Amino acid sequence: MARVYNFSAGPSMLPESVLKKAAAEMLDYEGCGQSVMEMSHRSKVFESIIRGCEDLLREIVNIPDNYKVLFLQGGASTQFAMIPLNLMNGSGKADYVITGQWANKAYQEAARYGDARAVASSKDKTFSYIPKLDPATFTPDADYFYICMNNTIYGTKYHTLPQTGNVPLIADISSCALSEPIDVTKFGMVYAGAQKNMAPAGVTIVIIREDLLGKARDITPTMLNYQIHADNGSMYNTPPCYTIYMCKLVLEWLKNDIGGLANMKRINEAKAALLYDFLDQSELFRGTVVKEDRSLMNVPFVTGNEEMDAKFVKEATAAGFVNLKGHRTVGGMRASIYNAMPIEGVKKLVDFMKKFEAENR
Ligand SMILES: *Cc1c(COP(=O)(O)O)cnc(C)c1O
Repeated sequence: MARVYNFSAGPSMLPESVLKKAAAEMLDYEGCGQSVMEMSHRSKVFESIIRGCEDLLREIVNIPDNYKVLFLQGGASTQFAMIPLNLMNGSGKADYVITGQWANKAYQEAARYGDARAVASSKDKTFSYIPKLDPATFTPDADYFYICMNNTIYGTKYHTLPQTGNVPLIADISSCALSEPIDVTKFGMVYAGAQKNMAPAGVTIVIIREDLLGKARDITPTMLNYQIHADNGSMYNTPPCYTIYMCKLVLEWLKNDIGGLANMKRINEAKAALLYDFLDQSELFRGTVVKEDRSLMNVPFVTGNEEMDAKFVKEATAAGFVNLKGHRTVGGMRASIYNAMPIEGVKKLVDFMKKFEAENR
């Protein structure tokens, strides 16, 4: 069986060893005679899976004890409403930096509930950079300050965090979670939809400082209240059991096969450097993002000619490099090279791009 190199922005590749382990355990998980898909979420076996997943995440990401880990549903997009419903309840103001479609959707959702302020935007240049931020322009009594840390569609990433003082910083880390170490103490909350770098689709992981719990508005639906999920160990209702199990397998792979986030970062930097170094000297292709704000995970590039882009995507697909078509708002191509993309996949893509360039100059 031939597996392709899958550059999808999400859902995206999972480590092959994780898929094999899941396949081997599909019918009979650890001798209990059932699949994880079939067991009660209240069973001892599943309890050990969800708590094991949380423990591993705490260990690998170095999450302090005063933060809760929540396993939620509704995708990253449900957080766009949960954040204001739960946290925009002091001054009723919150600052947002508009660095792309996901940040903008979060901002628009928050604006339905309170005084959401766009403190900066990079829309003027199709979100190809992270705006320079001046703390003097921030709202001093904001309930929180919101960023999208890695902009999946546009391929930008914050390499330094905004200085928000006492205002809790909240980050959408959907497309960079587990790609490198992060200092959780710098944030009030981070969250990620799992399907980019953590697991299959179905679970959203929220890491939230305990003092931010218990501030939800009265109208907040029970299922959208962080406190409810924190008080119930993410088992207020049935959690996405199988996805949480898969997340645990991915975390075991990160710990045992990769050796943790510092190693993961080195590997991701090596992969990204292969691609960016090639783009920087290519006469056919070029990256679309300013150098200092480039993402390690999502690498958009273009030829400058739509027909040539389409030809490249078609020939790449035929050669086994799939899902390279860029987002419709940027055009061109995007290679998402998440944790599970092996370095050989990027090397072979670059070789293919060199060959294509030689043939099409
Ligand atoms: C994919 C993505 C989302 C949306 O995730 P859903 O789980 O589909 O709601 C939000 N933010 C970022 C940064 C993403 O990459």
